[in-house]
Amino acid sequence: MNSINSPMQKIRYNNFDFYIKRDDLLSHEFSGNKARKFYYFLKKDFKNIKKIISFGSAQANSLYSLSCLAKLKNVKLDFYVKHIASHLEKNPSGNYEAALLNNANIIKKDFANIQEYIEHNILKSEKDYVFIEEGGRVKEAEFGVKILALEIEEYILKNNIKNCKIMLPSGTGTTALFLQKNLKNNEVLTCACVGDENYLKQQFSLLEKDKTYHPTVLQREKKYHFGKLYKEFYEVYQDILKQTNIEFDLLYDPLGLLSLSAYLKEYKKEEKPNIIYIHQGGLLGNKSMQERYERKFL
Ligand SMILES: *Cc1c(COP(=O)(O)O)cnc(C)c1O
Repeated sequence: MNSINSPMQKIRYNNFDFYIKRDDLLSHEFSGNKARKFYYFLKKDFKNIKKIISFGSAQANSLYSLSCLAKLKNVKLDFYVKHIASHLEKNPSGNYEAALLNNANIIKKDFANIQEYIEHNILKSEKDYVFIEEGGRVKEAEFGVKILALEIEEYILKNNIKNCKIMLPSGTGTTALFLQKNLKNNEVLTCACVGDENYLKQQFSLLEKDKTYHPTVLQREKKYHFGKLYKEFYEVYQDILKQTNIEFDLLYDPLGLLSLSAYLKEYKKEEKPNIIYIHQGGLLGNKSMQERYERKFL
């Protein structure tokens, strides 16, 4: 990744104009949310490091991004998973397949608390490694997210955009939190895709005690479970693709866009804020989600 600045694009979706920060276009190998969060490690000197160790789901975007990072840095990746669906193991696809092609070492360990298992059993016997928590929930993530904040701030200033808010859907909340911390003049809006609103606020507190740095969490209209299929999610995905020609991810963005629409409905037309929505990538995971949607709803 030579330059890190991603393009901004103006779109119209459901008769509302907003800006899309195209982090999905950062680079082919290393893009989206995880590229921002792992940028610190990309820039870090790996002279004395032989291996990256992490854990998470076998379909995670972070698995693929870390496999790219390991390849770029010429080190190994040991990625621990609790479980691999037998269908996926027999027919690798998406992030899992791409990570295997990058020679990721995906290790199955069925422990209730896999993080504790790694910290207590694996790391002791390893040397010269970096350990990255699930989904990049680490303080080092601020380094790359701060650059994203600077790019956004510069764009807002240069284009004289008034009353501007930034929206992005959250998993661990790491990106939204560090974005708000580094965007002093603009409110960051987010929604909880993994767990509920309280879980997300707890995640913010783990990374930053000062609540004035916490993003605003939009209330969801109903409870959604991460990775489950919802008809309205697939409709949002198809609608925005049709209207803008931009493909969004199927795990986070549908809820992000639904929450944003509900939020904007509360404003009078002339008082609506300008919105910059961050496209955080993750499209490699879409293929298997799409297949699941088509099996379920078509
Ligand atoms: C990881 C990821 C997120 C969630 O990011 P957090 O920093 O964990 O909140 C959102 N969208 C995509 C596409 C991702 O890959």
